[in-house]
Amino acid sequence: MLTTNPFDDDKLREECGVFGVYDAESAAAVVALGLHALQHRGQEAAGITSWDGHLFHSHRAMGHVAGNFDRDDTIRALPGRVACGHVRYSTTGETALRNVQPLFAELAGGGFAIAHNGNLSNAVHLRNELVRRGSIFQSTSDTETIIHLVATSTYPTLIDRFIDALRRIEGAYSLICMTREGMIACRDPLGIRPLVMGKLGDSTIFASETVALDVCGAEFVREIEPGEIVIVSDTLVRSIRPFAKVAPRPCVFEHVYFSRPDSVVDGQSVYSVRKAIGAELAREMPVDADFIIPVPDSGVPAAIGYAQESGIPFELGIIRSHYVGRTFIQPADNIRHLGVKLKHNANRALLEGKRIVLVDDSIVRGTTSMKIVQMMRDAGASEVHMRIASPPTRHSCFYGVDTPERAKLLAARMTVEEMAKFIDADSLAFVSVDGLYRALGEQGRTPGRPSRCDACFTGEYPTPLTDHEDVADQLAMLEPVPA
Ligand code: SF4
Repeated sequence: MLTTNPFDDDKLREECGVFGVYDAESAAAVVALGLHALQHRGQEAAGITSWDGHLFHSHRAMGHVAGNFDRDDTIRALPGRVACGHVRYSTTGETALRNVQPLFAELAGGGFAIAHNGNLSNAVHLRNELVRRGSIFQSTSDTETIIHLVATSTYPTLIDRFIDALRRIEGAYSLICMTREGMIACRDPLGIRPLVMGKLGDSTIFASETVALDVCGAEFVREIEPGEIVIVSDTLVRSIRPFAKVAPRPCVFEHVYFSRPDSVVDGQSVYSVRKAIGAELAREMPVDADFIIPVPDSGVPAAIGYAQESGIPFELGIIRSHYVGRTFIQPADNIRHLGVKLKHNANRALLEGKRIVLVDDSIVRGTTSMKIVQMMRDAGASEVHMRIASPPTRHSCFYGVDTPERAKLLAARMTVEEMAKFIDADSLAFVSVDGLYRALGEQGRTPGRPSRCDACFTGEYPTPLTDHEDVADQLAMLEPVPA
C-alpha cells in the first residue's frame, strides 16, 4: 500500500489535529470541513462528537475525513449546534478504533468529550497510579488519563476538576472538550502545540491551525495563549489562566514541517518562515550549481528561499502525479519497490548533465533521501548536493510527534559527512540552530532560555520526561550488578 506521499515515509509525523464549533447550524458539518483542512496532521483516523442539547452523538472511524464524513446520513446522525472533532496519527496507543478521538465518558455531572493534540510525558506514570486505585481504562491512549483524572478529582465543579487534572499532567496538550454546559479549549503552559480561536458569524470556533478557519469561512480572532483555558457557554466566552506563568516554548517543527504553509502559527506565516529558512541555508551553506530542486511538497518554500537568495534558478526536477490515491495497491509484490516512481518521477530532460541542489525540510532515517538522490543520478544529474532546511534531527520527540527511537535517527548515529556518504550525495549540509531562529525573526537561539521547543535538534526538553525516566530506571535495575 502506498501512503499519500512516498517521500513522506521518512518524515516525522504530527500526531493530531483538533477542531471545535460552538453554536452553529449543522455544527458537525462545519467540523468535518475544518478537519478536512487539518488532514495533514493525522491520516489514520478521524472522529466527530456533537451535542444536541439532550444527547451526545459520536462517529469515529479509521481512515481519512473525506471517507468518514462524506455521507449526508453520517452528518445527519451528528445533530446539534455544538461539535468537536479530531484527526489522528497514533504515537501513543495502538492504531485501533478504541483510541480514535474524541474520547467520551459519562462523568458525575454529565458527559465529557475530549480531543487532544499533543502527548503527555507522564501519562504512563499517572495511568499506573490510577489503575492501582481502581480506574478501568477503555483505551491505550494517553488522553484517557485526563478523563480519569477529571473523574477522580474531588473538586466540586467540572471546571475545577478539569483544572485539577491539568495540574497533574506534563507534556504537550492543546485540548478541545465538550460538556453539557459548553465547550472548553486550552493549551499547555508552554504552548507546545498550536491552538487558535475564530468566529463564524456568532459561532465560536477552535482549531489547531488557521487554515481550518479559512476553509470554513471563519475569521481568525486570536491564538489561545499558552496556559490559557477558554470556556464558552450560552453567549459567554471567558478565559482563565490557572497555571503559574512560564516562558512559552512552542514547537519549532510546526514551522519546519508540520503546519500547512498557508497557516499562521505563533503569529508568523509558515510559508514566509520556510522561505526565510531556505534563504538562511543559502547564506550558511552555499554551493555552486545549475538548479535548485525542491523535494515535493514540503521542501518547496525553503527551495524558493534558497533559490532567491543564491540567484540559482528554481526548477521542478521531481514531478508529482496527483492520481495515486492513498490506498493504491501494488499489483504484485515483485514491483512494490517501484512505488516511489509511480508517485514521483524525475524530470529527466531538465536534469541531464546538470549540477543540482536538492532542498528538503528534514532527514529522519535517511532512507528516502537516499532514494531521491539515486533518482536524480539515474536521471543524469552530474552532481547532487543536498541542503536541509532544519538542523540535524538527533533526538526523539515526546510531545505528540512520531519519531523513531533515537538509535534509528540518522543524525544520532553519524556525522554529517557520514550521512552524505550514506545517502550518496556530493555534499550535504543543514541550516544551523541559530540560522533557524534567525529565520523566525530572532538574533539566534538564546542559550538556556530558547523561545521554542527545539529538543529534537538540541536534546533540551522543556518539561520533565517522567515516563521516559521511569523506563530508564527500570532498565537500570535490570543491569547486572558487578561482582
Ligand atoms: Fe517539536 Fe521537536 Fe519539540 Fe517535538 S521535540 S515538540 S518535534 S521541537
